[in-house]
Amino acid sequence: MAADAMKGGKDCKSCGDMNCAAREKQPNEREEEFLERQALQSRMCQIEHKVIVLSGKGGVGKSTVAVNLAVALAMAGKRVGLLDVDIHGPSVPKLLHVEGTMVSGHEHALLPVQVEYGSGALSVMSIGFLLRERDDAVIWRGPMKYNVIKQFLRDVEWGALDYLVVDSPPGTGDEPLAVAQLIEKADGAVVVTTPQEVAVQDVRRCVVFCRHVQLPVLGVIENMSGYTCPKCGEVVRIFGGDGGRAMAEEMGVPFLGAIPIEPEVVVSGDSGAPVVQSKPQSEAAQVFGRIAGMLLERGSAKRTA
Ligand code: ADP
Repeated sequence: MAADAMKGGKDCKSCGDMNCAAREKQPNEREEEFLERQALQSRMCQIEHKVIVLSGKGGVGKSTVAVNLAVALAMAGKRVGLLDVDIHGPSVPKLLHVEGTMVSGHEHALLPVQVEYGSGALSVMSIGFLLRERDDAVIWRGPMKYNVIKQFLRDVEWGALDYLVVDSPPGTGDEPLAVAQLIEKADGAVVVTTPQEVAVQDVRRCVVFCRHVQLPVLGVIENMSGYTCPKCGEVVRIFGGDGGRAMAEEMGVPFLGAIPIEPEVVVSGDSGAPVVQSKPQSEAAQVFGRIAGMLLERGSAKRTA
């Protein structure tokens, strides 16, 4: 199996990075574990930037953020992959209108589903494509979840990408831990919250979690941040105001932006046409565009450095 996995990637020793931890077998590492680690590494090192989208709890808009950032990057002409490993709530297929797609592949790899955006394309893989029933994963235990996440990272034939956006399961449990550990040298995490204290508390834990696993925090996004009445223009802070921004300041991490509650976000999500593409003039789409721009700037600064 491990040797098979290796055949799916390219030869790990051919990349020439003498400092790569996957070059040599570690003490006490079994041959099979070593080959698996190399296979994962050789897949990941074809991807220049890896961005992990995290949230303290479900329902705050993490998948919506992951999808819109990935599509915005693809629309900017980048080669982008979107990986949905939210085992208990894989919503990416629905948000991109590709649910029910049969995933093809060959003996050693799965081929991502291609979704076109103008001149760009998004390569998508979701755990949702492979579950027969949405509730199939309910009985999975920790090690099984870890292995499924590992297989998704290692066995999907992404090819060379500029960005891989990973929609991680919410919280700070086994699954996000697996994602953070398996993706070595990730650019970092984008942490999504809503403004109210109960959500912000969870996201504080998320930032502490990132520090523990040495995953840089690229920044915090406050989603569902106020609703502008279409009749009178008054901004109603349904979930309170500025909790995400205040938390980011307090924790010393960047604040990336506030996305308002907009019915267009729900409609576009339900119809599988992300707002950045279907409603580019909306406030939400503009904020997503600015955040994607920040990621691009950061990416080019990193390359220059
Ligand atoms: P999560 O991945 O955190 O569970 P989702 O991205 O699936 O959350 O979003 C949950 C629901 O909230 C979806 O119906 C989505 O359309 C809606 N939603 C997300 N962000 C917004 C927003 N800014 N305005 C209105 N609805 C939103």
